[in-house]
Amino acid sequence: MKTTNTKLYSNLINGNWHPPGTDVLENHNPADYNEVIGFFPMATLEDTKQAIDSARAALPAWSKIPAPTRGAILDKASQILTSRLDEIATALTREEGKTLAEAKGEVTRARDIFKYYAGEGWRIGGEVLPSSVTDELLYTRREPLGVVSIITPWNFPIAIPAWKIAPALIYGNTIVFKPAEDAPHTALLLVEVLVEAGLPAGVINFLTGDGALIGTEMTSNPNVNGISFTGSHNTGTKIYQNAIKNMARVQLEMGGKNALVVLKDADLELAVKLAITGGFGLTGQACTATSRIIVQEEIAEAFVSALTTAAKNLKLGNGLESGTNMGPLVNQDQLQTSQNYMALGQKEGATLLLGGEVDGTKGYFAQATIFDHVQPTMRIAQEEIFGPVISIIRASGLNDAIEKANAISFGLSASVVTNNLREAFAFANQIEAGVVKINEPTTGLALNAPFGGFKQSSANTFKEQGQAAMDFYTRTKTIYVNHG
Ligand code: NAD
Repeated sequence: MKTTNTKLYSNLINGNWHPPGTDVLENHNPADYNEVIGFFPMATLEDTKQAIDSARAALPAWSKIPAPTRGAILDKASQILTSRLDEIATALTREEGKTLAEAKGEVTRARDIFKYYAGEGWRIGGEVLPSSVTDELLYTRREPLGVVSIITPWNFPIAIPAWKIAPALIYGNTIVFKPAEDAPHTALLLVEVLVEAGLPAGVINFLTGDGALIGTEMTSNPNVNGISFTGSHNTGTKIYQNAIKNMARVQLEMGGKNALVVLKDADLELAVKLAITGGFGLTGQACTATSRIIVQEEIAEAFVSALTTAAKNLKLGNGLESGTNMGPLVNQDQLQTSQNYMALGQKEGATLLLGGEVDGTKGYFAQATIFDHVQPTMRIAQEEIFGPVISIIRASGLNDAIEKANAISFGLSASVVTNNLREAFAFANQIEAGVVKINEPTTGLALNAPFGGFKQSSANTFKEQGQAAMDFYTRTKTIYVNHG
């Protein structure tokens, strides 16, 4: 039986809330799909054009506001996020499925991101350069890029929007924001917070609905100057092709197939902890999730046995219930994908050590799954699964491990567990990944450090987060002043 509070949620265009028409997007709880969270608008093409026009109209006034004053609004948003942390985290778990502890961590991250970029308002600056001409002042000025389209996935429904929206705003841009179909509620709560913090009408516009319809307009409309997208490689490729027609700037962060390399002198207990966190945390639904573990032969048996024992103890369940270590997958497609790869791994000849089953009777639950003796060329070792499935690959030593780790089209995150300093640095230098960790999980990022992948994990254009975000969200003007 379906339970629903039949709540209707709205889109935001030019400061006005637009409730849904007859066509709606239904949002439900992945831990119990009979629980309907609410109904969201299916924005039309006309709505999308209006949102872009509204962002364009709001740009001159917003970009003229002194950056520290814009920062005060971000700071206020950060304070509101603190006061609503528990409520927003609960909403996040209800629609996306991750555990409440994970959701609280994510909302806390969003809060900190707004705080960080509020401070950046005091630091935006250009350069003064030495001039080759007498009595000439030569300097650069950072200006907003303009109207930016922000398109996000469901797996971090508040942190990813935050790390795109906060820098876009502080550097003076206006926004059209479209969250993923599976997590519109958390995104809407963030937009509400920004409105409450005092963001003027039109500076942020919010659209829910069909990703392809809204997203195509958001990435091909000539009034859009920049597109920041996180999501699948397939969608990212389409966006790049649309953007090029208008020479719009793009930032695309996409999939991963991240390796945790465990060398023979590793602290075994630490290696197991990092594998569990990276592989099964967030139910494996993180772009930086550990999906391959490359382990040196000498310690492989001991590591595999300790990892399997630890993974057996993970409690799969509703993320809102205490004691749950791993929530459900987000939707039926994700469940089906995990199930397909669980079957494929066995067909390809890998050894199934743990899990391998899903339960879709009430929610989208997939067991923590470990395959051993995986060959690097098998599809389970090459393709992004985005679920709780780990492939263990054996390696003879550091060089073999690096070669196997690099033999892949993705290049997002990689980690090595070792007490050998020389091997740790060799790994850091030779691994083809935008994020490298030593004795840390492949997941988890600092908000003030550049983030982005290599190879097919990214458009390889602009990094996100920290001060690197300024390069994407501003354009540089060079000014020559002859005062002789
Ligand atoms: P997705 O590509 O299906 O959707 C992402 C967003 O794009 C959604 O908002 C969707 O509505 C929108 N979209 C769909 N079609 C579009 C189109 N034609 N034009 C424009 N926008 C369109 O991805 P997903 O399933 O939501 O997310 C999972 C993927 O995201 C995984 O591949 C994962 O690795 C990746 N991801 C990457 C990072 C990173 O930083 N590298 C972080 C999180 C997730």
